[in-house]
Amino acid sequence: MGALTDKKTMENKTNFIKEIIDRDLKEGKNGGRVHTRFPPEPNGYLHIGHAKSICLNFALAAEYNGLCNLRFDDTNPTKEEAEYVESIKEDVKWLGFDCEERLFYASDYFDKLYEYALELIKKEKAYVCDLSADEIREYRGTLTAPGKESPYRNRTIEENLDLLKRMKAGEFEDASRVLRAKIDMASPNLLMRDPALYRIRKEPHQRTKDKWCIYPMYDFAHCLSDSIEGITHSVCTLEFENNRPLYDWILDELKVHHPRQIEFARLNLVHTVLSKRKLLELVNEKYVAGWDDPRMPTLSGLRRRGFTPASIRNFCGRIGVSKVNSIIDFGVLENGLREELNKKAERRMVVLRPLKVTITNYPENKTEELTAVNNPEDSSKGTRKVPFSREIYIEKEDFQETPHKKFFRLAPGREVRLRYAYFITCQEVIKDKKTGEVTELRCTYDPATKGGDSPDGRKVKGTIHWVSAEHSEKVSVRLYDPLFTKRNPEETKEGQTYKSNINPDSLEEIKSSRAEQSLKTAEKGVRYQFERQGYFVVDPKDSSSEQKVFNRIVSLRDTWKKIEAKTA
Ligand code: ATP
Ligand code: MG
Repeated sequence: MGALTDKKTMENKTNFIKEIIDRDLKEGKNGGRVHTRFPPEPNGYLHIGHAKSICLNFALAAEYNGLCNLRFDDTNPTKEEAEYVESIKEDVKWLGFDCEERLFYASDYFDKLYEYALELIKKEKAYVCDLSADEIREYRGTLTAPGKESPYRNRTIEENLDLLKRMKAGEFEDASRVLRAKIDMASPNLLMRDPALYRIRKEPHQRTKDKWCIYPMYDFAHCLSDSIEGITHSVCTLEFENNRPLYDWILDELKVHHPRQIEFARLNLVHTVLSKRKLLELVNEKYVAGWDDPRMPTLSGLRRRGFTPASIRNFCGRIGVSKVNSIIDFGVLENGLREELNKKAERRMVVLRPLKVTITNYPENKTEELTAVNNPEDSSKGTRKVPFSREIYIEKEDFQETPHKKFFRLAPGREVRLRYAYFITCQEVIKDKKTGEVTELRCTYDPATKGGDSPDGRKVKGTIHWVSAEHSEKVSVRLYDPLFTKRNPEETKEGQTYKSNINPDSLEEIKSSRAEQSLKTAEKGVRYQFERQGYFVVDPKDSSSEQKVFNRIVSLRDTWKKIEAKTA
């Protein structure tokens, strides 16, 4: 069933869904079986909200030794594409779940669904209605006023059967007729006021091609697909609570296997939107570079950004399920990832914004191989050699000409430690004559401090990273900030949309960073900690052997302070 390693995250926590399943099992329902499904509509790429549903459904199945299906809810031919189907399959697999041979399509059931529609007509529980969409809306009534019955509601069974067959045969125009359930125009639940079950849509379907010109509505197709597959617990999000009576009504009228629908609160994350419609807008209107842009909350975006499947599974387990909507901090996801990468990722030194430093008392043609630790959390990762020479680069921001009070790194006359190398002291600042910008520092080193250790107990307050100028590679790094400036992007001034909250600075690309040599051969998918800068991964799309491109997965927060405490 996949993802067994963190099955535990879910297992130990009880939740209201498991309580319902436990009760059903105790009462001997479904012959003791548990069978769930994840039913995406292939009208966009999956996002992290879907991951919550995927993890929940697969974990429930795993925990109860049951099964979980992947079913494409492909009943709307106008918005669905094969590209989306493929991406969804890939994302589910990447997350670590395997539906084995249980990959289904609602469109595989179109024949059966049509038979069920005929059956409802024969039971006088459905009728063909000729009202226009506007009229149907008018007749429906409101929350406070009951609806009015359609003048077509009492057609005979024969007439209804004949009309539905002719709808299917393509005799009528789009939207000229619908098949409706015959329930109750006075029901307090508007969805029960004779909802539509089938509509005419003369549009080829990506799988059934031209076979159909009538398509089942979500409410009709969904419950029956669940029933056909023998699903026992149909887990969905809260917005379907009002649809549950209709789900139950259809299955009861047809006297077929009846899964139990259970609703939970959808995942909302700060600083982003989780709606396929809006994500599609961001793509189409070029706010991002595609569905897999590393800033997107899509699974393909998170994957390209460098998130691990385990971090997403653990996150979904950690946030749990509830009946109350809430907004989760992105930090919950990032913290888990930091913990994981801290243990796994090897360290490297990369200078994002280089400032040249010449070590004036270091011999011109000398190169030394110094020893650097690959992962202080895991000694089995060993060490590597980093070359040191007379000209090096350090971060621009590790130097201040007039240091402010809490700045402990390099400044004129001040000594700092170069990690794994030597203590250096800044002797001279060279500036561009025109702009006044600092272009180079001239420093001296103390040969007695090799490896970064002080021979005489002398203390330095700052430790900075560096690379040898001659022995480093020029690389691009991409730093990301949230796609939206507001915690809740939907919070807008009147007349504006969520798009007014797009963060114009969500991507910063630095094209002339300098990376230590060993990153020349960095492979796609391998994650590194760039010391003091965060966790990075090679961008799988834009990186080439000429120009390596690294995505920052997540920043480090405070870990450097700890490193400094250890080494100081
Ligand atoms: P969107 O609102 O993004 O368009 P959707 O609900 O239309 O999503 P579906 O393809 O119908 O997308 O969703 C498949 C499953 O994923 C459904 O069971 C749905 O309830 C669940 N799901 C969608 N969004 C979330 C979310 N944010 N949190 C948890 N589950 C979600
Ligand atoms: Mg939906």
